[in-house]
Amino acid sequence: MRADSLSTEVSARLFAEASAVIPGGVNSPVRAFTSVGGTPRFIAKANGCHLTDADGNDYVDLVCSWGPALLGHANPAVVEAVRRVALDGLTFGAPTEAETHLATEIIERVAPVERIRFVNSGTEATMSAIRLARGFTGRPKIIKFSGCYHGHSDALLADAGSGVATLGLPSSPGVTGAATVDTIVLPYNDVAAVEAAFAEYGDTVACVISEAAAGNMGAVPPLPGYNAELRRITDQHGALLILDEVMTGFRVTAAGWFGIDGVAADIVTFGKVMSGGLPAAAFGGRADVMDKLAPIGPVYQAGTLSGNPVAMAAGLATLRAADAAAYATLDANADRLAGLLTGALTDASVAHRISRAGNMLSVFFADDTVTDFASAKATDTWRFPPFFHALLDAGVYPPCSAFEAWFVSTALDDDAFERIAAALPAAARAAASAERPA
Ligand SMILES: *Cc1c(COP(=O)(O)O)cnc(C)c1O
Repeated sequence: MRADSLSTEVSARLFAEASAVIPGGVNSPVRAFTSVGGTPRFIAKANGCHLTDADGNDYVDLVCSWGPALLGHANPAVVEAVRRVALDGLTFGAPTEAETHLATEIIERVAPVERIRFVNSGTEATMSAIRLARGFTGRPKIIKFSGCYHGHSDALLADAGSGVATLGLPSSPGVTGAATVDTIVLPYNDVAAVEAAFAEYGDTVACVISEAAAGNMGAVPPLPGYNAELRRITDQHGALLILDEVMTGFRVTAAGWFGIDGVAADIVTFGKVMSGGLPAAAFGGRADVMDKLAPIGPVYQAGTLSGNPVAMAAGLATLRAADAAAYATLDANADRLAGLLTGALTDASVAHRISRAGNMLSVFFADDTVTDFASAKATDTWRFPPFFHALLDAGVYPPCSAFEAWFVSTALDDDAFERIAAALPAAARAAASAERPA
């Protein structure tokens, strides 16, 4: 067990208490610090770009709840919207006007989306999108890419990147062969592999699902033209294209990754930023496809809390504040962070690549560009834990895995960047002196 240099007594006690009642002490595995060691910080509160843990330590947050906190924490407009709506009741199991407002906001931003349905998590969004694609095409097979994560539904858990990779689980017990027999897993960014799979299985493939830009093997953008090739090949074979924008949606531009490469998917999934920090997500797309959903079509999909009014209010307040100026700030903050990271690592002579997908980034310890999960896994990931802990000890909170993206918010300020700049030289030296495991 690693000794923490900040005081982590309270977090350690809370973690022990949690571990007695919650498996591993956490409700999502990556939170347990498994791959970096040390005490996971129990968070007491957060404001702007700052997290405060249960021991009173303050951190500059470069995780942003794994993406949602685009505007920083406890943004006043978002908190006020939530407070106002909550006073009128939390859930009704009946339609509310807020659902139409958020649906309209999303449809106005993302041109290929003509209809949208809200669910409660990204997992549900992709799971429902797959069911819809199968129902629409009448075909069984799906193609996904190694290292792309689409949530933890059975059919999509094969070779699923970050959380699973960090734990070194090749796949999960409990997922039957029957659940994954129609899942074809291909390397990311490899058009020839997609062509070959369609040559073999073409008329049985319901859809290709890909992260619009991969963020769950670290931030790994599609190579130029790659998503367009997915569009071309799926069209040629009568399969649907699902672009998963749960991470990139409303984060990298006002229209998500679609705003960067303009590739129009048949179905797009959203989550994270879309619901402003409350549990909601969505899938949307072509009207003729979406209209296959119950109650007007035969494909069943439902949710007791779906379209929850408080979550809709948080999402709408977040998107309304996420204007052109906000995206310019996010890009500038990502550039500034990338510059600091590469400067410090270069000074310490650590081979590295700052891999960028819009304003998401990852630090790969490698000489060569990472383009897929195999090249991500081949990097010097053993340099990451000491790098991570040196930053954490200096009050900077990076993602706790080499296979995760780093997220900036609009709330990062000069003081935050000064703290990051001050922390980085020691972190880079720690990465430099890390020892390759035998
Ligand atoms: C986070 C994520 C999901 C899963 O969303 P949850 O809300 O955690 O279920 C799906 N797809 C992508 C691309 C994600 O980043």
